[in-house]
Amino acid sequence: MEKQEWLLGIDLGGTTVKLAFVNKGGAIVHKWEIPTNLVDNGIHIVSEIASSVKETIGKWPGATLIAAGMGAPGPVDFETGNIYVAVNIGWRDYPLKSRLEGELGIPVVVDNDANVASYGEFWKGSGEGTNDLVCITLGTGVGGGIIANQELVHGVSGAGGELGHITVIPEGGAPCNCGKTGCIETIASATGIVRLSLEEINKKPESMLANRHRDQGMITAKDLFDCVKEQDEAGVAVLDKVAKYLGLTAAHVGNSINPDKIVFGGGVSRAGEALLEPVRGYFRQYAFGRVAESTSLECATLGNDAGVIGAAGLAYKQYGN
Ligand SMILES: [Zn+2]
Repeated sequence: MEKQEWLLGIDLGGTTVKLAFVNKGGAIVHKWEIPTNLVDNGIHIVSEIASSVKETIGKWPGATLIAAGMGAPGPVDFETGNIYVAVNIGWRDYPLKSRLEGELGIPVVVDNDANVASYGEFWKGSGEGTNDLVCITLGTGVGGGIIANQELVHGVSGAGGELGHITVIPEGGAPCNCGKTGCIETIASATGIVRLSLEEINKKPESMLANRHRDQGMITAKDLFDCVKEQDEAGVAVLDKVAKYLGLTAAHVGNSINPDKIVFGGGVSRAGEALLEPVRGYFRQYAFGRVAESTSLECATLGNDAGVIGAAGLAYKQYGN
């Protein structure tokens, strides 16, 4: 039997750990999930990952894991692989890399989850073949990752690429989870979109958006895009606001590094061109001329697999040769 050498990609979230065996070409061979064990401030997580990996790899007697990558929800000291803090998990100054290497017996690279997902898009997603890439993930919050000259930007304290906390409303903005106000996260995240929708519903109680809210007792980002499709006035007004500030954010980031592409991922980006088209309009308005002409705005293509593929990609980059 031919010897198969694979990479292990791990994407740690607050409820599940996504795992995948990935070949050196960046294709997923097998993927699965285990629940995230938050008991005792997450001290069981690493050993549960290791035992699940050992059990699963046993199904392929000819396969070997050469290295692993892992994305964790918090700032990471990239040199040591220590997690400064992961609030949702309960880790503080946690030596993730050394613990995982001890359990798995292979070299491990650890990075922040948004960086890891961005690297996935860079390696095998919509950023494949680019040199400089920015990813903006529009989920419950807004995450980001910057790849400059094919390397992730970490910064002096692991906070490089925290694009969600770019201030777009300097005064009087909504409070953000980070403790500031007026961050793009308060506008373009799924929760931000819901907040803006509720504001608009109060102003336009006869709109389709308001009717949906009355019928369902709640509203989601998907409802907003459904209403936009029907040209609902309230829906269009909310989307215009989201697109304006997202276009402004993209312009600032674009002017800073003039990447080949700025890629939008996360649940909100499933709206596709309905979101991207107005964002591009504002981006062209706010970005420096040469940036507007040369940096393109696109949707991510890997979906929920970006994390495990990116983690495997970082492991391959670090230890693959
Ligand atoms: Zn913030």
